[in-house]
Amino acid sequence: MRLRGSANSKLCFLLSLTLCASLLLLMGLQQWGPSDLQLSRPLQPVRQHPKTLGNATQDRNILKQEKRTGALRRPSAGRSMTDSISAIDREYSRHQVAKPAKLLRTRVKEKGLQDLAKNPTARDHAGPGSEEKAAVLLWDSPLHNIHTGPSKHKMQLSDIFIAVKTTRKYHKARLDLLFQTWISLVQEQTFIFTDGEDKELREKAGDHMINTNCSAAHTRQALCCKMSVEYDKFIESKKKWFCHVDDDNYVNIRSLVYLLSAYSHTQDVYIGRPSLDHPVEAAERVKSDGSTSVKFWFATGGAGFCISRGLALKMSPWASFGNFISTAEKIRLPDDCTIGYIIEGLLEVKMIHSDLFHSHLENLQQIPPPTIPSQVTLSYGSSEIKRNVLRVQGPFSLAEDPSRFKSIHCLLYHDAWCPAKDRH
Ligand code: UDP
Ligand code: MN
Repeated sequence: MRLRGSANSKLCFLLSLTLCASLLLLMGLQQWGPSDLQLSRPLQPVRQHPKTLGNATQDRNILKQEKRTGALRRPSAGRSMTDSISAIDREYSRHQVAKPAKLLRTRVKEKGLQDLAKNPTARDHAGPGSEEKAAVLLWDSPLHNIHTGPSKHKMQLSDIFIAVKTTRKYHKARLDLLFQTWISLVQEQTFIFTDGEDKELREKAGDHMINTNCSAAHTRQALCCKMSVEYDKFIESKKKWFCHVDDDNYVNIRSLVYLLSAYSHTQDVYIGRPSLDHPVEAAERVKSDGSTSVKFWFATGGAGFCISRGLALKMSPWASFGNFISTAEKIRLPDDCTIGYIIEGLLEVKMIHSDLFHSHLENLQQIPPPTIPSQVTLSYGSSEIKRNVLRVQGPFSLAEDPSRFKSIHCLLYHDAWCPAKDRH
């Protein structure tokens, strides 16, 4: 009895000790937890913009009111504005990052562009130059509040390597526009892969212009040759994310950073827009003799795509030092398909399908204007074909800005880059 009694009291003592320890642990977690778990933003604190909308219910009401008064145009695809916002919200929450609805709400009114442009503050930050300046410009703006939600991983602008594929004949026709707009903000991150020397471009881009010495032809071999150099340069750069875009893409840097911050660069991440609604099927000539076939998805190069460093390193046996060209030759598919083949077909890693990347192969008219500031990439085709033109109103006319990139850039960075008449 005495023995059992002492065992009981020992048990009681141990139990209360465990309880105390758990309580202490819980208190500790509460004190340290949230701030440590949140994404640590390396950049400037947010300055609340006068036009930034307030709480969610209030915002919805403003949206409703704007809808009633016709300030918001209904998207043509028969979806309501709120539907489009919800769709974008869903897309972001799929990647487990905070909803960008706030962002949308700040800029939903195309007509509100001029009002927003009246704020002169951030103009002082403008001007090309250091990464720091660009960062301030990118984040210390009314749209900054998209980043206030907790994201999962530490992420900085400087973690991204953006490869722009181009060719000699498009240096003026296409690249100039990109340098005037989004590249000007992220020159440190951007590398131009081309096929011919150009003094003017060299002056602008310095050693970020990479002459691949690949052929200037629009052939599978030439395009794969460029992709192969892009891959090698990325690996060499030691950066955490590889993003490829074409020279007719607009990159919304903030959306890109925000999207990628949902993932770790050490995970296997391959994200972009599938160009088809079904996987491609090709004869398996790498692992076997071609008698079997392999099915895989690939992200269309014309919409841009990103790959984490962790995954890129695993691709090395089939992608590094010219191996990419021989892999592409074996399966006889273009560069972007070959990337999909290596990742899905050989490494058995699933591509993440995203609606936030856009090429001119899709109907760009169907992107609801209020969601444009949240998209990650955009594109343009011939302005004579209506479906190739994004629905972005002013401040530049269609004749001044057929790609709509200038207007989009003004929409996103109104204080830094807009025609003088729209700044005041
Ligand atoms: N391109 C290239 N060499 C060429 C033609 C095009 O490297 O001879 C690049 C071009 O700069 C762009 C991409 O390939 O980045 C796609 O070209 P384009 O937009 O003309 O064609 P798409 O396939 O989109 O219709
Ligand atoms: Mn194109």
